[in-house]
Amino acid sequence: MSYIEVRHNYKKYKTGDTEVLANNDVSFDVNKGELAIILGASGAGKSTILNILGGMDTNTSGDVIIDGKNIAKYNRRQLTTYRRNDIGFVFQFYNLIQNLTTKENVELASEIVDDALDPIKTLEDVGLKKRINNFPAELSGGEQQRVAIARAVAKNPKILLCDEPTGALDYETGKQVLQIIEDMSRKHGATVIIVTHNSSIAPMADRVIHFHDGKVTKIEQNAMPEPVS
Ligand code: ADP
Ligand code: ADP
Repeated sequence: MSYIEVRHNYKKYKTGDTEVLANNDVSFDVNKGELAIILGASGAGKSTILNILGGMDTNTSGDVIIDGKNIAKYNRRQLTTYRRNDIGFVFQFYNLIQNLTTKENVELASEIVDDALDPIKTLEDVGLKKRINNFPAELSGGEQQRVAIARAVAKNPKILLCDEPTGALDYETGKQVLQIIEDMSRKHGATVIIVTHNSSIAPMADRVIHFHDGKVTKIEQNAMPEPVS
């Protein structure tokens, strides 16, 4: 049994008379502690499955089993608890609160969980010790994304979900940000899923899940990490 098991996931969006099958029989596994990449062109259905895995959206049918529990059967309240306690999310455009400092952004997120990491220590770990009292607007894009990573990781989540985390960054900065995501997740034992259209980052992953037109077209495993029970 894998830590994450997506089975026959369907998601249909209806807007007026038009229907989009954003996930069309999607199935894949991710092991505990792995770094998986969901790769595919814009519109392939990647964000759709990421949002479902994060408890931010619900599916149309299928099973989404996390650590033996089928979150597709959760009610709204159960999903909120799951999202708060188990999930860290990193977005393409950082989504920091502009009138809070770096430190306050991370503190706000860690306040809602019991076993949070120390916000300042976490900011040090992503290389932002000197920036803890700055506001987001005073930081570069790469620095803002590092704050967002610290904010997600400080919750000590079981699963870290990243939606195009390097999409707004230049190549070198993007590479650094991915390295930090990898380092932080390995250090704290989180399972990571990164959504991207950028195939150049695939070599860093333990598993690459290819999406096309709402379907999984190929799954590659780069290396087999030691299974963690
Ligand atoms: P990707 O993340 O791979 O770019 P998405 O999961 O965002 O793809 O979208 C997959 C398809 O579903 C696209 O055709 C998109 O337009 C459609 N879609 C996504 N979200 C919605 C929504 N909230 N309402 C209607 N259609 C949506
Ligand atoms: P991404 O490349 O990350 O999928 P998108 O621009 O496709 O980014 O989507 C950004 C947000 O807009 C997502 O939350 C997605 O669910 C929503 N979205 C995407 N397509 C549509 C659509 N056709 N109608 C309504 N919402 C959409």
